Amino acid sequence: MSRLLAASVTLPTSTIPIFRTVASLREWRRKAYLEQKSVGFVATMGALHDGHISLLKHSLSRNDLTVLSIFVNPAQFAPTEDLSTYPRTLEADLALLEQTKVPEPSTESERITSAIFMPTVQDMYPSGITQDVSGQKGTFIEVKGYGHQMEGGSRPGFFRGVATVVTKLFNAVEPTDTYFGQKDIQQGLLLRRMCRDLLLSHPEPGHLHIMPTVRSPVDGLALSSRNAYLSPNDRKHASSLYATLNVCKDAWRDLRDKNLAIEKALAYLKERSSAAEADGVLIKPDYIHMNDPDTFDDVQTYEEGKAVILSGAMWVGKTRLIDNIILGNAEGILG
Ligand code: AMP
Repeated sequence: MSRLLAASVTLPTSTIPIFRTVASLREWRRKAYLEQKSVGFVATMGALHDGHISLLKHSLSRNDLTVLSIFVNPAQFAPTEDLSTYPRTLEADLALLEQTKVPEPSTESERITSAIFMPTVQDMYPSGITQDVSGQKGTFIEVKGYGHQMEGGSRPGFFRGVATVVTKLFNAVEPTDTYFGQKDIQQGLLLRRMCRDLLLSHPEPGHLHIMPTVRSPVDGLALSSRNAYLSPNDRKHASSLYATLNVCKDAWRDLRDKNLAIEKALAYLKERSSAAEADGVLIKPDYIHMNDPDTFDDVQTYEEGKAVILSGAMWVGKTRLIDNIILGNAEGILG
């Protein structure tokens, strides 16, 4: 059997209710409406880490109830990508969710995740789903003009898969507020635009919050489920991406020209790559881009205070890492 969870698979026990069908979640949601409770939502693909938990805590502290979904979405993986090997750590995920609590305002008690939504692929894709876009049938969401830059340039079709699944999740959960991570900045901004374009009310675009990236306190590596793929030697060199983005950030401030800043950053990465190679670790840059957060157009020259998304991706051995820094004024993007 594939590693995709079927509805009949027995789940580890959890004190938090787990909903496996859209219908059962909707029944729960109806009750929340009747009780006039706000519902926060965090969408994940599981293999939970402190980045996910930080989003969850934001939701718990700002909403009466919180739903967290775990769904590895086949539509956002290209046929050549890692759908079948994507880390699946359900038992540890449930344990982590049970431990995650925030104080309930003006009472002695604590808030914990109210519901875990783990739909099946069949429930989420009633018309079926193949990873090969040319063979897909049914309804898909495309945010035209915003999915081909930055990460979308390297992963064609990725944001179509993301926008489609998140629309479905929003339709099922009907969140009052929802929380996404800055680590996937293009995703958050594109989804906010999608909420606006589709006139969604749950959530309204202003209720889609993008929260700062959680990093390793040791070397700044952005936490990611895919970090589990890194060998101990890979891990030693994985922070090169964040360090390279920081070199680019300083060069942008000093030289005020994108091409010169990226040139300087790539020269730095080359040095880091040579050090990694001596350790038997192959580092391969994918891209470094600088884009306008509203239009996603390339930015060429420095404008004092203007927000720019500096993003990058690179391979460390067989693991592909992404990261970004917001330069200038991040107001209106984060929070
Ligand atoms: P994923 O399970 O990778 O699809 O991620 C689920 C959500 O967690 C997305 O909104 C991500 O942007 C967010 N996320 C992943 N890693 C981090 C991190 N290091 N810091 C903050 N948010 C994160």
